Amino acid sequence: MVIVIGGGAAGIFAALAAKASHPDLSVVVLEKTAVLLSKVKVSGGGRCNVTHSCFDPNQLVKNYPRGEKELLGPFHRFQPRDTIEWFESRGVKLKTESDGRMFPITDSSSTIIECLLSEARKLGVEIRLRQRVEKIEKGFTVHLKDNPSLTCKHLILATGSSPEGYSNAESLGHTIVPPVPSLFTFNVPTSPLKELSGISVDSATIEVGPFTQTGPLLITHFGFSGPAILKLSAWGARFLHEKNYRTSFSINWIPKLSHEKLFQKLLQLKEQSPQKTLLALNPFYFPKNLWKELLGIDKTLANLSKKELQELVQKLHADTYQMDGKTTHKEEFVTCGGVTLKEVDFKTLQSKICPGLYFAGEILNIDGVTGGFNFQNAWTTGYISGNSIESSGS
Ligand SMILES: Cc1cc2nc3c(=O)[nH]c(=O)nc-3n(C[C@H](O)[C@H](O)[C@H](O)COP(=O)(O)OP(=O)(O)OC[C@H]3O[C@@H](n4cnc5c(N)ncnc54)[C@H](O)[C@@H]3O)c2cc1C
Repeated sequence: MVIVIGGGAAGIFAALAAKASHPDLSVVVLEKTAVLLSKVKVSGGGRCNVTHSCFDPNQLVKNYPRGEKELLGPFHRFQPRDTIEWFESRGVKLKTESDGRMFPITDSSSTIIECLLSEARKLGVEIRLRQRVEKIEKGFTVHLKDNPSLTCKHLILATGSSPEGYSNAESLGHTIVPPVPSLFTFNVPTSPLKELSGISVDSATIEVGPFTQTGPLLITHFGFSGPAILKLSAWGARFLHEKNYRTSFSINWIPKLSHEKLFQKLLQLKEQSPQKTLLALNPFYFPKNLWKELLGIDKTLANLSKKELQELVQKLHADTYQMDGKTTHKEEFVTCGGVTLKEVDFKTLQSKICPGLYFAGEILNIDGVTGGFNFQNAWTTGYISGNSIESSGS
């Protein structure tokens, strides 16, 4: 018997792979709650961002602040192209949005859930709900709350970021990198831009400590959000946690021009249109209210000294804000931390410490930026762990 603990994306996909590759084995999923795939259900605002249209494993791994090195091999075996193929061959077509995120064409996560569960029924994967695993002994004996214990030779731990999953892994000899949140937005209570909530720019560069990200930036009631901030929160997850989410960061509003080029551009404008204001000219096509707020001055260019222009360049390139707290991003959030990666063989997802034990999904110290990369990790590690059961004998 193969026991899979956790009925999320990784656990279900692992169970499907184990049963498909080894039809003679009974595969049982133990899920502590009354529902399977609950995160899939709410994911991507209910649309489920299944994966990302990035098909080169070398590029793909760059979206994982934790797991970049370890996922390269696995992505050569099961990557977004395989995910698309897997779902399409079971009747679920995916579509790609302009930023590369992929969703079912129905725009409904239920389509993904129904597909996975119908495959589980077809293959004969046994699902047991309300089965909370409390303790695991090597060998394996799985102790359940309110139910008799179970034994098995192969165990796939896919409990996501659940503390019980971490302590189960620890009790079997693994070390856990302490979990901290990833993918959140920045609170800036003192931001003068909060009133402009809803306004966004296509490209800004944000810098916090040693981390930098360029991309779309959104002004919110709380502070800042958008892809650039979310990516930064992922790469800087541990750094920001250590700072207790209180630190200064800077925004370069015009990252396409160097300091010198921006200054020259402003001098050029001064020469060409001395009687106009920068506010009226809006040479970088900012949303009007934002440009007004960033400029803070409303003189004609003729009345702007070189020093004032230099100060403006400085402001546009290194506009400093004070982060004070974070807000959970509703579309997608994950945990940075989990089972230490060097203790896992990424050819099989088997533990190097406890033979017969496998890991899949977010329980590992792997997390991606927003965009479908976290589910791809679940599909890939689920697929490989499930398939590896057979090769290591049953
Ligand atoms: C609101 C939200 C939206 C998201 N949207 C996206 C998205 O659109 N695209 C994307 O790529 N990622 C998204 N993510 C991230 C993605 O959902 C996770 O990375 C992914 O679900 C991880 O899958 P998993 O199976 O490893 O863990 P989980 O989905 O967390 O599943 C773990 C399961 O294990 C069960 N479990 C835990 N402990 C025990 C125990 N002791 N006994 C038995 N069962 C147990 C849990 O109840 C749970 O069902 C989103 C996350 C959130 C929170």
